[in-house]
Amino acid sequence: METMKAVVFHGVNDLRLEDVPRPRAKAGQAVIRITATTICGTDVHIVKGEYPVRSGLILGHEPVGVIAELGEGLEDEYSVGQRVIVGAITPCGQCFYCLNGVHSQCHGPMGGWRFGNTINGAWAEYLLVPDARANLTPIPEPLTDQQVLMVPDIASTGISGAERGNVKIGDSVAVFAQGPIGLCATLGARLRGAALIVGVDPLTERRAISRQFGATITLDPTACDVVAEIKRLTDGRGVDVAIEALGRQQTFESALRSIRPGGTLSSLGVYSGKLVAPYEAVYAGLGDQRIVTTLCPGGKERMRRLMSMIVQERIDLSQLVTHEFTLDQLPEAFDLFSRQGGGVLKVGIYPEGIAEGHRRPSETAAIHV
Ligand SMILES: [Zn+2]
Ligand SMILES: [Zn+2]
Repeated sequence: METMKAVVFHGVNDLRLEDVPRPRAKAGQAVIRITATTICGTDVHIVKGEYPVRSGLILGHEPVGVIAELGEGLEDEYSVGQRVIVGAITPCGQCFYCLNGVHSQCHGPMGGWRFGNTINGAWAEYLLVPDARANLTPIPEPLTDQQVLMVPDIASTGISGAERGNVKIGDSVAVFAQGPIGLCATLGARLRGAALIVGVDPLTERRAISRQFGATITLDPTACDVVAEIKRLTDGRGVDVAIEALGRQQTFESALRSIRPGGTLSSLGVYSGKLVAPYEAVYAGLGDQRIVTTLCPGGKERMRRLMSMIVQERIDLSQLVTHEFTLDQLPEAFDLFSRQGGGVLKVGIYPEGIAEGHRRPSETAAIHV
């Protein structure tokens, strides 16, 4: 039996680099050789035991790679050796939810999220891709792995915060938390034509990057009353759209209190425990507000659209990759990422080694580490 290296979850705070069987593709499936992947905040929740997955699972849901094997029925559309990405969410395209347009909820609640959740993920040399026809997305020729690494999850999720919030030309928007997802939400608000964009984060360096991604003003929640300041900036009304990009009661509540009557709270965070909406923040239930929640949009058409934005130089997310590691170094990278050390935003993990010529963070002054 052929084996491969992978980083396997064995329980709370127990990640191990191991040799495991290499997957094989059945009909409709593909195996890709991973050339780049990364670590998500959701993986940190899993490893800390805040989101349960089974022991023995390979984690990681952000794959960039090359097609190594195609199962039956895919030869007309794909070829071995083709460079592809796969979304973090892999909808089947055929079930009740997919055909009703909520692909991320494929087969049931959160069912579209399979990699590193219900099936083996991308922290490995090879990855089995289910429903490959709906999910393998060729990488446009000029783009490097590093340029597309944020597409499977971070860009798709972050930008969807603005899309699902239905941000319109001239809107005022506040984005709570400016981690990688929040920064992409800020970028999404700019792309959708928002006028005032408020980036909220306690970290000075993240507020600086927030301005690069489109924030017209940034606020430090530890230094001011953010809700009062947002009201002041919007003639006392509140913003049209607030985007929550952290997953805490406090940011959810601040986001809710910062929207105007009739406004929208677009929630991207992953919450645990109890989530409460105080009655006065929703005007006793009579404020005509909307709360929308979003799980990362996936599938190959979503991936194609996001990569076309990079090809046309409308967005550039490579600067979010602040640190680079090999697969063997993943536990070390995880430690750095989970404690947000060294000014890290996202880590690049390259199973075949770190390629020469990757853009280094030092080229972008605002994100010096
Ligand atoms: Zn993720
Ligand atoms: Zn489905």
